[in-house]
Amino acid sequence: MTGDGTRVVRAGLPEPRPNEPTLPGPAFAAHFHLPGEVSGPYTYGREANPTWTALEEALSELEAPGGGAGTVVFPSGMAAISAVLLSRLRPGDTAVLPSDGYQLLPALRERLEGFGVTVRSAPTGGDAQLAALEGARLLWLETPSNPGLDVCDIRRLADAAHRRGALVAVDNTLATPLGQRPLELGADFSVASGTKALTGHGDVLLGYVTCLDPELTAGIRAWRKITGAIPGPMESWLAHRSLATLQLRVDRQAGSALALAEALRDRPEVTGLRHPGLPTDPAHALAARQMRGGRFGCVVSFVLPDRAHAERFLSALRFVDEATSFGGVRSTAERRGRWGGDAVPEGFIRFSVGVEDTEDLVNDVLTALNQAKG
Ligand SMILES: *Cc1c(COP(=O)(O)O)cnc(C)c1O
Repeated sequence: MTGDGTRVVRAGLPEPRPNEPTLPGPAFAAHFHLPGEVSGPYTYGREANPTWTALEEALSELEAPGGGAGTVVFPSGMAAISAVLLSRLRPGDTAVLPSDGYQLLPALRERLEGFGVTVRSAPTGGDAQLAALEGARLLWLETPSNPGLDVCDIRRLADAAHRRGALVAVDNTLATPLGQRPLELGADFSVASGTKALTGHGDVLLGYVTCLDPELTAGIRAWRKITGAIPGPMESWLAHRSLATLQLRVDRQAGSALALAEALRDRPEVTGLRHPGLPTDPAHALAARQMRGGRFGCVVSFVLPDRAHAERFLSALRFVDEATSFGGVRSTAERRGRWGGDAVPEGFIRFSVGVEDTEDLVNDVLTALNQAKG
């Protein structure tokens, strides 16, 4: 089997044909020529589009290089997450969600409860989900979690969930398929926001769901058709184009994130430092076992003494944009508490490491920390 770098540059591309583009351009089509009986893959634009197909094949190859996976792309990560939760759960079902997951999960939880679904929650670290599994229909994991960067044991939890008849979904946004392959670890659904590190340029929102079981894939595909939550051909094409550099980006970003975490470890004003690649991090041993290639993601989180200190730090940075989201080629950082959705201290910083020169970035952060001392 080829290496990741070789796989990403060709993933989802058509067989070479003379005088055809290597990556066909976006197909802007609301409908397709359809003489006579309804047949063929492309009929109406809400059902399928060749630009989605190419991206879906690419993502299937990355999530499951052994073959056999199916992917359904969505216009955002939340559309993908909602598709799994809302299509699989019925009134009377029980689901287990992380208590420290993506900030919109609590809002989704309220909707599920409104539809008569019982939702239990458990923190990501320590595999506390085990105690909540009895009678559950679906287990939702997010590992590493955003923004707390805790890690749970996908294999162990998936086995326990399957023994009880529950399906398992993993939010793979932070790791990307190059950093972690949830389906190989036993998950039924690998779900992600492609808005972050996957596409990496901060210019596209996208999401996807990948499954090995064709029936599960078909259910998700049907949900997309019914709800009409479809990505634009242009966004899908941009996402596919971005995949070619995925390995270069995630390797560079993971390396720089580790260097930054190491530099922050020695600073007295920094507490609560988390990065799964840091050998002293509580999640490191497990992350090193289930994540791939030393790719522990581009996010470093830490806490500065208070809100004002954190704000001084952010405005003193020169090469880092103050912005939300993560995974982009340009470093970003923000005081996470400004959103109000996450249970984090006022001085909590989520830092997303871009592809700048590592030394420039670390120097910029250390200089800004000095200036922020006040
Ligand atoms: C951003 C994010 C989402 C939501 O994705 P969108 O593309 O913004 O809808 C879901 N899960 C995680 C872990 C995220 O970071």
